[in-house]
Amino acid sequence: MDGPSGTGKSTVARRLAASLGAGYLDTGAMYRAVTLAVLRAGVDPADVTAVRRVAEATDLHVGTDPNRAVVHLGSEDVATEIRGQQVTLAVSAVSAVPKVREMLVARQRQIISEVRATTGGIVVEGRDIGTVVSPDAGLKVYLTASADARAARRTRQDSAEGRTATVDAVKADVERRDRLDSTRAASPLKQADDAVEVDTTELDIDGVVAHLLDLVRD
Ligand code: C5P
Repeated sequence: MDGPSGTGKSTVARRLAASLGAGYLDTGAMYRAVTLAVLRAGVDPADVTAVRRVAEATDLHVGTDPNRAVVHLGSEDVATEIRGQQVTLAVSAVSAVPKVREMLVARQRQIISEVRATTGGIVVEGRDIGTVVSPDAGLKVYLTASADARAARRTRQDSAEGRTATVDAVKADVERRDRLDSTRAASPLKQADDAVEVDTTELDIDGVVAHLLDLVRD
């Protein structure tokens, strides 16, 4: 499942996985965790060589249970901290570094094959899942929504999680990140040719999940 931020991707992917008894992988959380490590190391996210060095030394662990978000750096739980503003501002630069993508894509493929061998299925969300990570996926979904709807959702989510920002500021950030994510040289955000596009602007979460369950079962 791919698409820009604020389309409801994470909530939908998690709920879909839980309904199917499948695993779940949030690849954005992996890029965010590496970004947190980069910031903590005092490294400039634009310094490709230094970012690569930090990424190589990062001990990252992500869980695949759709009912429990687990993101660890070493033994430290960073699931909340990776959602903060500092990380959100820097993550597009870090995820544009080819070596970072190469490492994380390899890890993602390994997790996918392990989970598929045990639970039988996995819902994976990100920006390049249908195009790069899993081009042979059984079902590819590309979620979209209008920029206003996406900004409104992100603002609600931020405020539910204790972060405050105006809709305008969130909209500017969402648009900035989309621009960077879709224009970078390495695996830009792009809809796979064989992905089903689902526009969530007018749909609530239940509606999107029900629609995707139908697609999975078809
Ligand atoms: O999904 P989320 O908004 O948490 O992703 C954070 C950032 O991680 C994105 O803006 C993008 O820069 C990067 N990302 C990526 N490839 C993925 C998932 C996320 O480049 N598969």
